[in-house]
Amino acid sequence: MFCSNCGKEVAPEAVVCIHCGSAVNKTANSIVGQKSKLAAGLLAILLGLGIHNFYLGFTGKAVAQLLLSFCGVGYIWCLIEGIMILTGSINTDAQGLPLKD
Ligand SMILES: [Zn+2]
Repeated sequence: MFCSNCGKEVAPEAVVCIHCGSAVNKTANSIVGQKSKLAAGLLAILLGLGIHNFYLGFTGKAVAQLLLSFCGVGYIWCLIEGIMILTGSINTDAQGLPLKD
């Protein structure tokens, strides 16, 4: 793995570059645990219960959608988010990792 600021090699588990002190941008390197954009979008549209936000790690929002789904509002919210996920308007998970196609 290489520092995105100074370009020198840093340890794979490093969060800060030992050469220049800048935060290492992990998204520029190999990403593990990336969530699937398609899976998240389909969970949102097909289920509409906030399950896609549990999947992406937005637990608070997921619980709100789950509760709202019992009065119909949650499904519309999930549907909009599902479309936003599939079109790329929502493109990161709760950790800020980009979703894979
Ligand atoms: Zn550096």
